[in-house]
Amino acid sequence: MSIEVRNIHKRFGNFAALNDVSLKFPDGKLTALLGPSGCGKTTLLRIVAGLEFPDSGQILLDNESATERHVRERQVGFVFQHYALFKHMSVFENIAFGLRVKPRRNRPSEAQIREKVTRLLELVQLDWLADRKPSALSGGQRQRIALARALAVEPRVLLLDEPFGALDAQVRKELRRWLRRLHDELQVTSIFVTHDQEEALEVADEIVVMNRGRIEQAGAPASVYNQPATPFVYSFLGNVNLFHGRVHNGFLETGDAAFDAPEHRDARDTSGTAYVRPHDIDIERYTEGARGLVVRLERVHAIGPLAQLELRRSDNAELIEAVISQERYSQLQLKEHETLVVRPRQVHIFLDQAA
Ligand code: ATP
Repeated sequence: MSIEVRNIHKRFGNFAALNDVSLKFPDGKLTALLGPSGCGKTTLLRIVAGLEFPDSGQILLDNESATERHVRERQVGFVFQHYALFKHMSVFENIAFGLRVKPRRNRPSEAQIREKVTRLLELVQLDWLADRKPSALSGGQRQRIALARALAVEPRVLLLDEPFGALDAQVRKELRRWLRRLHDELQVTSIFVTHDQEEALEVADEIVVMNRGRIEQAGAPASVYNQPATPFVYSFLGNVNLFHGRVHNGFLETGDAAFDAPEHRDARDTSGTAYVRPHDIDIERYTEGARGLVVRLERVHAIGPLAQLELRRSDNAELIEAVISQERYSQLQLKEHETLVVRPRQVHIFLDQAA
């Protein structure tokens, strides 16, 4: 089922939690709503679900208006961060619950329920836990059961609100890969709320970056990561070095260096900021007359396949972070405190008034 929200506004008292949000969630895709705490992700999810109603705006399900439809009429399944499974029921009965409470006319038979729950337990790879109570499960297992329970009623939309938020990093990583595979198999339209950019980039088909009740950018993970539309998206999606300077005639001048800024050819002495990711920086040993930013190497963390360098310009207190391959690092034979030249391979320049 495709989902579209149009011009959604939602206030809580004087606070605008959603401010003119318009968005399409493609049919069968897994979309991540990503943004800092309080940006309105959960509010948008609850509005899609029909648990909350917008002050103005429209919701369309499969191109039909559903703005007034109640949660029961929207065929949605939920998984929350702390999903309260019924403590007194076995795993099997927890999953069966949604089927048993269906109105008599479309309630499946006992044999059908048994078959379905068994299939769902296999799907979430926990069939050996059918008879356990939730208290005897790990956090990760509970969330997989919560997902099986949400899927039992064959929702047309699956809404996941930080489903792995309460789990430790390792389990979280495993579960998000598992969710990705499960989604590939089922292809039910899903919206996944997270404030973890790595999680969103790894799991989602589409990413929607939100900030202060608005959408900053929506698109495929690679395009949002590689072509951030705003300074906020750039900083939120990963580590970034900022170089402030003046933009003039297609260049940003910062200290003794200049970066090409062809997209700002018409700018005349405007203040701007260059955004450079740590892995988009080339490092050379300093030689007289070298082009680039002259820096001093302050610290190196060289564990694993990458070496992380902390660099500092002489005219600037701000640290520059660069990440290079371990191979390149040993080739250069860098020593702490030596002078280097830094050349960014990829630079994004935003004029400051647009920030
Ligand atoms: P988090 O990642 O912390 O869950 P979020 O992006 O999901 O954040 P929301 O839960 O959508 O954010 O909340 C958006 C804003 O609206 C927050 O500032 C929140 O305090 C406020 N808000 C949400 N629900 C209510 C409510 N029922 N009454 C008053 N304010 C609310």
